[in-house]
Order: sequence, then C-alpha cells, then structure tokens
Amino acid sequence: MKKIIPLLFWLTAIANFSHATSIFNSDVENLIATLKAPTPIIADLKQLTDEIGSRLTGTQANKNSVNWALNKFHQANVSAKKESFTMPKAWLEKSVSGKVFNGNFSFSPQIVAMPFTKGTDYQGLTASIISINKGDSQSFKHANTNNALQGKWLLVETAVLDDKSGIHGLFQEYLDAVGIEERALAVEAAGIIYMSSRTQNLLYRHLPSTGADNTLAIVVMERESALRTQRLLNAGKALKLTAKINIFGEKAYQADNVIAEIKGDTFPDEIVLIGAHIDSFDLGTGALDNGSNVSLVIDIARQIKKLNIVPKRTIRFALFNGEEQGIYGSFGYTKTHAKELDKHVLAATIDIGTGAINGFFVNGREEIKAIINQVLTPVAGLGPFNLMNDPVVGTDNYDFMMQGVANLVASQADANYASNYHAQSDTFDKVDQKQLKLNSVIIAATILGIANLDEIPWQRQTAKQVVNMVDEYDIEASMKTFGLHKSWTDNSRGVKH
Ligand SMILES: [Zn+2]
Repeated sequence: MKKIIPLLFWLTAIANFSHATSIFNSDVENLIATLKAPTPIIADLKQLTDEIGSRLTGTQANKNSVNWALNKFHQANVSAKKESFTMPKAWLEKSVSGKVFNGNFSFSPQIVAMPFTKGTDYQGLTASIISINKGDSQSFKHANTNNALQGKWLLVETAVLDDKSGIHGLFQEYLDAVGIEERALAVEAAGIIYMSSRTQNLLYRHLPSTGADNTLAIVVMERESALRTQRLLNAGKALKLTAKINIFGEKAYQADNVIAEIKGDTFPDEIVLIGAHIDSFDLGTGALDNGSNVSLVIDIARQIKKLNIVPKRTIRFALFNGEEQGIYGSFGYTKTHAKELDKHVLAATIDIGTGAINGFFVNGREEIKAIINQVLTPVAGLGPFNLMNDPVVGTDNYDFMMQGVANLVASQADANYASNYHAQSDTFDKVDQKQLKLNSVIIAATILGIANLDEIPWQRQTAKQVVNMVDEYDIEASMKTFGLHKSWTDNSRGVKH
C-alpha cells in the first residue's frame, strides 16, 4: 500500500496543475462531467410524457406541464417565472370520424383533422372524392375541367415518410402542401384528404400552410385506407366521404412560457438564451418533439446551480409554448423582451428529438462561427461538428432571427425523428436516452462557453441586415410552409421593413 502513496501524490499534483492552467474552462469541464453522470433528465422526461402526456397549447395538460416545469426549476433553486403571451386562435379536435361510401359498400377509415380546420355540423361534411394524384398543378388543371373539383374532397397521394426519407422528406411534405392548399382553395374544393405519409395506420397532424388563417377542411386519412380509396377511384367507382369533425375553436387567448435564469456576475445584463418548446401536438405524448429537449434545458440549469457555477453573463432557460401552432411563445417572448433584445448575445434552440447533435445552424450569421467552434472544443470528442449558414424557419429561433439576434439551432442526426413526427407514435420509448445525455453535454458546453467569453465579437443585426438575410438566403418560400409569410410581409413579425 505504501508504495502507492507517492504515485497518488504525483497524480494529485498533476491534477492540480492542470486545473490551474485551465481555470477558464474548469466550470465547463465540471458541468460536462456532471451531465455525463446520472441526473434526473430521464425521470423528468418520463413524468412529462407518461404522466402529463400530450401538451397542446390551450389545454389543461399544457397548463399542467407549465406548472410542472416551473416546479422543476424551483426545486433546483433556479429562479423562474411564467410569462404570458397571446395565442391568436384556440383549436382542439374533440372528435372526428370518417366514412367512405357509395350505394354498394362503405368503410370507416381513421382520420384526423389538420389544425385550424373548421368543425362540421353533426351530419358532417359529405362530398364526392376525386383523386388528385400528388396535387401538382398539372393534376389540378387536368382534373378541374368544367370546375369538376368545386365542392369535392380532393384525395392527395403522398410519398412515404420514414427514417430513410428523414427530415428532408418531411420538409418536402411541408413544401408540397403550400401549392396543394393554394390550388384547392382556388378551385373551391370542399376539402383535402391527405393520404397519411406514414404506413401502418399511423396518423399525425401538423400546421397547414396558412397556419391559424386556414379556411379549408383538411384531414389526414390512414395510408392503407387512403390507398384503398385511391384504388377504387382508379377502378372507376364513385365514392363519397362524410367527415364529422367536432372542434373546440375560439378566439385569441393567453398561454404561458416558462422563463428561468441564472444571473451572470460580470455582465449580468447580457443574456445567453437556450430554449426548447414545452407544447406538443395531441396525438402522441411529444417525447421526441420536444419533451426530451425540455428535460435537457431543465437539467442543464439544475446542474449549473448545483455546482454553484456563476457565469459571466446571465443564462436564460426558456421553455416556449405555442410552438406547434405557429411559433407564438417565442414570438411573444421577443415582444415582451423587446427592449432587452440588444442585450441578447445569443438565442439557441433545440428541437429535433434525440438524434446526435452534429453541429449548429448559425442562421445566416457567418461571423459567429469561429466563436462557436471555439466553445465546442471541450466536447470535440463528441463531434465532428458542422456549422451551417442556412437560416432555419419553423422553430423557436425564428423571431430572434427576424429581430437580428444571433441565433443557433442544433443540427441533429435524423435518427427516428421523421417517422414519429407529430404522430401517435411520438412516445417515451422512442427516446435515445444515452444520446439525450450527450446532447445535454454539447449544449451545456456551448451555452456556458458563450456566457463566459471575455468579449462577444458580434452585435444584433440592423433591420437592413435582416432584410438582406431574407433575400440572400431566399427564405420566403420556407416562411410560406409554416404560415409565417403573411406576418413578415405585413410587418406584424420581424423587423419593420
Ligand atoms: Zn418541435
């Protein structure tokens, strides 16, 4: 035993020495080690998804999730509060049913309504179904001879969305919907039936291209029944659909974000924000989208506090609400904190499930890349990391970006995100627990690294620079896919232009 003592002494001396030489990073290193070890992140996620469940903004479960998160911060001695913002329209599907029939036979496929679809009366909306293939302009033109599409249900064929088509396939689905929905409105169709892009009777819903302004009846029909319907139509059978859609729909209402913070000691007015959205759609339990990253944000705050780390800048932990229905919570935040936005040195968000973080979207801000690479050094072993300029439209960085605040979105491996996206299958069992922990390490190193910099070599962009970014990267097409184009052009969101 005695022989070991000098060795131990020597090791301790080395450890102390290396600690002394890397004092700047010791907080980051401690935080990384703590987050790699067991923490409550998985237990939290299980509670949020299995006990509270789906968290559609406007529901009691959503309010429960807000209070749950507030408690989690308070239990960790992190100061936190609710901040209310306005949701423009309440929408909840209470019940829905569909029946495909003609004089000879009928079947009742499962359907769901797309958000902001108007309800029907108790008899439902009945109309003939016309197969419109993929809904491209040629198909519409061909099928609409003598206004044949007016007052009809239009069955739209979709490509299968699975983990092979991934996030690229998902984005294509959103892009295609813009034209399909414009054309359906133009021909005065009764409504759109999207063939579910997922197999095995899986259903999902996401925002129509016109967002809360949607006036069309839009339903998703389980793929297998939609294919059956399409085969029958192609064989010359006439078919009708009766869709009974019972909606709770109301005017504007208030919902809450949860905003927590750990004050900085050197530049307390300067803010580094990390955010994830706490709301989900209501078919699954929002585990990948985005409960896992809500738990990640809470866990980082908890461990920073537990280690008594005091950053140089204030770190703000934002759990945004109302994201799924039009990114309203983070929009509300940028309005509530408008006077503080000059002091927001960075707003980072994470929203692609538990796929491995492989870099960040810097959203048109080339000038921030060098520093982001620098703060990723302590976690280089979890890389390589790629920084991409492409501005992301469609999650909570959006209003920060449109206000000129430097912003990041975690870029993540597709993993199982697309196949479970907004679907009944987005549940706790889909979460990659090990990777979620590693992602928390990467995010923590990035956020604390930025918060502890001696200097921030960038500033908030001017309105002109934001307009240039919109033009340079041509993001108006993306805005259209998420119902965000109108509010940009009419100056109600983003910098005035
Ligand atoms: Zn999301």
